[in-house]
Amino acid sequence: MPTTKELNLLCMSGQGSVQSGEVLAKLYSDQGRYVSVNVYPGTRARSSPVINYVKISDSPGLASCANYRPEEVVVFQEELLLTAKENSHELVADAIGRMKRGVLLVNSPKHPSELDLPFDFEGVVATVDATEIAERLLGRTPPPVGITMLGAYARITEAVDMAALSECIRDNFSGRLGELNAQAALEAYDKVQALGGVQFSTERSPSRIQHAEISSLPQYYSFDRYDKLPGFRQGSPFVWRDKVPVCNDAQCICPNSCISEVMCPDGTGFIVREGLQHQGYRIDVEFCRGCGICVEVCVGTALTMVDEDQLRKERPAYDDVTVEPHWPEVSAHQRAGMEALIPLRLRQEGDAPGGAD
Ligand code: SF4
Ligand code: SF4
Repeated sequence: MPTTKELNLLCMSGQGSVQSGEVLAKLYSDQGRYVSVNVYPGTRARSSPVINYVKISDSPGLASCANYRPEEVVVFQEELLLTAKENSHELVADAIGRMKRGVLLVNSPKHPSELDLPFDFEGVVATVDATEIAERLLGRTPPPVGITMLGAYARITEAVDMAALSECIRDNFSGRLGELNAQAALEAYDKVQALGGVQFSTERSPSRIQHAEISSLPQYYSFDRYDKLPGFRQGSPFVWRDKVPVCNDAQCICPNSCISEVMCPDGTGFIVREGLQHQGYRIDVEFCRGCGICVEVCVGTALTMVDEDQLRKERPAYDDVTVEPHWPEVSAHQRAGMEALIPLRLRQEGDAPGGAD
């Protein structure tokens, strides 16, 4: 019988579950194992949870799908436990709640015994303050914690060797960035705390999902950065991304279809064609998660990822970067700035400014 281990990595967009999944895949494949890494990026979810389903097996032919029997779950943001508990994101609840026994590793400054577990669980609970470590060493707020979490993962599971992990990190990230990430992983390896023999039981179950009202939810993800972005609702992925795609309209070349628009995991980027003097790619800044896929797949050289803090200094209203396609949701200050951009044709027809076509 082939043996397959299922591992779920849960993060907020920008925290690095994709990169850490890639590093894990290399490490496990170096051990002669077969690995399948399946990223679920979510759709138009403010604060954008991302789930990375990893399967590791001694046989080929692994499915590309969600994990149904995970035995390891790594949570990059402690509040995702609360998200699971409140059932405010079904896939997050499912990805955590399906693990009945195994290893649960959480990015948290708390001791494992202080965690509020969302569902029944037996096994090992571990915590490490990866945010503090990565923020200090990498100098970013909020920091990408994925690689740091792998150091704790190596220690708790003993599934990958720390020396091999350090080498793989240095291979994956060039120069100083690789060195700092390797340091962060090593510090997490040293500092992770674990509690074995946990037996937690609760009435809650991911199969009894009840949809929560947005207004009833606590303010999960609060960072100072929100305050610097007036007019945006709490939960904007702005806090996680540090770059956004900007289109050089003069280089935008596809008159009928835009591969970048099709590939955007959030349905956030869209091409502006008729009705403006130019053709160009625009984003919905309230949802764009800054993943950069649109830039990767653009068939020309129109799109570039640009540092958002710098961009906002130069264009505080995101001029020529965003045209909000969801008219009723547009905040007043954006709407005022957009009036001038709405195509005359659409206004005359009384259309919402859909932009795409
Ligand atoms: S793929 Fe690139 S060049 Fe083509 S329409 Fe989209 S943004 Fe413009
Ligand atoms: S960076 Fe591009 S692909 Fe990614 S969410 Fe933003 S618009 Fe979409």
